[in-house]
Amino acid sequence: MSPSEAAPLPLGATIGILGGGQLGRMSAMAAARLGYRTHVFAPEADSPGMQVATAHTVAAYDDAEALRRFAAQVDVVTFEFENVPAAALAALEGLAPCRPGVSVLSTCQDRLAEKAFLEAAGVPVAPWAAVRNEADLAEALERIGLPAVLKTTRLGYDGRGQAVIRAPEQAAAAYARLAPKPLVLEAFVPFVAEVSAIAARGADGAVAVFDAVENRHRDHILDLSFAPARVPPAVAEAARAHAARVAEALGAVGVLALEMFLLADGTLLGNEIAPRPHNSGHWTMDACDCGQFEQHIRAVAGLPLGPTARRADAVMRNLVGPEGLAAWPRLLAAPGVVAHWYGKAEARAGRKLGHANLLLPPGRLAAAEEAELLARL
Ligand code: AMP
Repeated sequence: MSPSEAAPLPLGATIGILGGGQLGRMSAMAAARLGYRTHVFAPEADSPGMQVATAHTVAAYDDAEALRRFAAQVDVVTFEFENVPAAALAALEGLAPCRPGVSVLSTCQDRLAEKAFLEAAGVPVAPWAAVRNEADLAEALERIGLPAVLKTTRLGYDGRGQAVIRAPEQAAAAYARLAPKPLVLEAFVPFVAEVSAIAARGADGAVAVFDAVENRHRDHILDLSFAPARVPPAVAEAARAHAARVAEALGAVGVLALEMFLLADGTLLGNEIAPRPHNSGHWTMDACDCGQFEQHIRAVAGLPLGPTARRADAVMRNLVGPEGLAAWPRLLAAPGVVAHWYGKAEARAGRKLGHANLLLPPGRLAAAEEAELLARL
């Protein structure tokens, strides 16, 4: 690394953010607090990120001229969701420092590359096989067995682009629904919990990890995160160590989330890497001195990473669709709850509109009745 790469961005510099969603919005708010300007580039006008950024560009990700103008106006580029086309980041990479860079984005955009990377980094994953045609699928089913999950290798999120195959006669329909996209077959994991950990890697190579959390989904969308995860300490430490190993091996500058499945025997299997701040890290905004968005901005700006220690236990609830909108006034008045709204124009079903963090004294979560906690959210 050259000395200029290691030098922090000066106060008042501009951080370019590809993507206009809530993750970019909360990153831009953290950047403002640290004395930076932001410029959000996204195809959608009035996006949550644009509402709080210093400047914005509304343009398609393949608009080469708009990307060039954007690069000329920013000091560093980051992205807030990994379905930004890699070609857009590749085009920017020659024009401005990109943190993380296109190689990180490419690895995490392709489930096959991601799984191979996780295995090489020492994070075990469920048995898997690439599926390019029906013969591959038959062979993969033979080897991996049932039940199994067939997934598109790219552009899947919140459970989209996947089908569970429980009986041999379901294979053809699953294939017909997802092909001709490149696919991957995975063993269905009989997990007892879904766990994730957020790791940050600074421009100087330092790595910091937040406490591992336990995630609960509803309709394939993250509903709740419990911080810290209610798992044996050795499991929590192993989850953090896996996330740190991924951050180091990827060499990414910025924050990433590693989603894992926890098996009954305590084994953790890696599922997905999100090379950006993540929904399961929203609790850090209110329970840590330096939350994941500030951490991401610190890394991207070349500042020292902040402390990841947890000052409170927390339960994060996502506010999704009309139900989330209806809960907002109540959550604003709820004791011990810090609520966040993303400024989306419509409260469509399945859309993440905001989230709320219930904060508890350290150590309280493990002992508390879950139903009682959830009644407060
Ligand atoms: P993904 O898009 O890979 O994050 O998957 C979305 C959700 O589907 C996960 O959070 C799990 O709840 C479930 N899922 C994905 N892959 C598997 C698997 N191999 N076995 C069991 N459940 C899975």
